[in-house]
Amino acid sequence: MLTPESHALEVFGPAAARHVRELCANRGIELMTRTRAVAFQNGKLTLQGGESIDVDRVVALPELVGEPIAGVPHDNKGFIPVDEHGAVRGLPGVYAAGDGIAYPVKQGGLATQQADAAVEAIAASLGAAIEPRPFRARLRGQLLTGLGPTYLTAGVTDAGPRESSVAVNPLWWPPSKIAGRYLAPYLSSQVSVGEPGQLEERPPVKTKPAGKPGAVADELRQMAVAFADSDAAGGDYSSALRWLDTVEQLDGLLAPAIAKKQGEWRRRAR
Ligand SMILES: Cc1cc2nc3c(=O)[nH]c(=O)nc-3n(C[C@H](O)[C@H](O)[C@H](O)COP(=O)(O)OP(=O)(O)OC[C@H]3O[C@@H](n4cnc5c(N)ncnc54)[C@H](O)[C@@H]3O)c2cc1C
Repeated sequence: MLTPESHALEVFGPAAARHVRELCANRGIELMTRTRAVAFQNGKLTLQGGESIDVDRVVALPELVGEPIAGVPHDNKGFIPVDEHGAVRGLPGVYAAGDGIAYPVKQGGLATQQADAAVEAIAASLGAAIEPRPFRARLRGQLLTGLGPTYLTAGVTDAGPRESSVAVNPLWWPPSKIAGRYLAPYLSSQVSVGEPGQLEERPPVKTKPAGKPGAVADELRQMAVAFADSDAAGGDYSSALRWLDTVEQLDGLLAPAIAKKQGEWRRRAR
């Protein structure tokens, strides 16, 4: 695995970087950091600097560029410059949030936090009795490992990530991949994972909590089954079956009711 970063998943901080290093090492995946690929042909990946290496798979992610809107300021990549309250610089009374603004990390969870800041600023500008809070990025990411997912979180600052955490239990609830204050509860209400009104922070569980053996596995199983049901309801049987694989990895076998679903989804996936 190649990355131009100094550490894989650098933006999530040192705990995440350590975690990815261990996952790769345990799976026999070589991790090359500070490395940029420039071309792929005939099973060979050419690196910046001219060296080429044999690889099994190539997954390339596109670079994002903004699409400028006439009359709205933008930087040289097409993104809208805003202040920490989402106010568009040079265009009074206009606010922006999400992937279109000139913030280096593009992520749904962050987009909702940027929107929170902009909405508070708009409300205050209209006379609401609040002190609008600035956007302070809190990254939350779910890493699919092939076994149960792991949960990563970090605050993002100009000086780099802070409070980097990795855990096998969800660090927010509901444990949606798009961790927005209201969006995550809304999305989970579609899947029935758990339905608090707002996103809740949760502490990492380092070991099995005393007196509650298997609590983490229970939570993972509950989530995996919920995601499987959701994928199957949307017609994505392949993904639903992968979630059941996770349950099988946790328990060694599937409960009869789930095994029955597995059989049915396998037939439909064909
Ligand atoms: C494959 C993929 C997987 C992802 N997975 C995750 C994930 O698991 N978790 C996560 O947090 N984030 C994830 N993201 C990132 C997340 O989707 C984005 O950060 C998020 O959607 C940004 O929200 P937004 O509202 O700013 O922009 P968008 O969701 O892109 O919405 C912008 C909307 O504006 C419309 N539009 C554009 N130009 C105009 C115009 N001129 N006039 C009118 N309408 C216009 C577009 O059609 C679009 O509907 C993923 C992204 C991709 C591509």
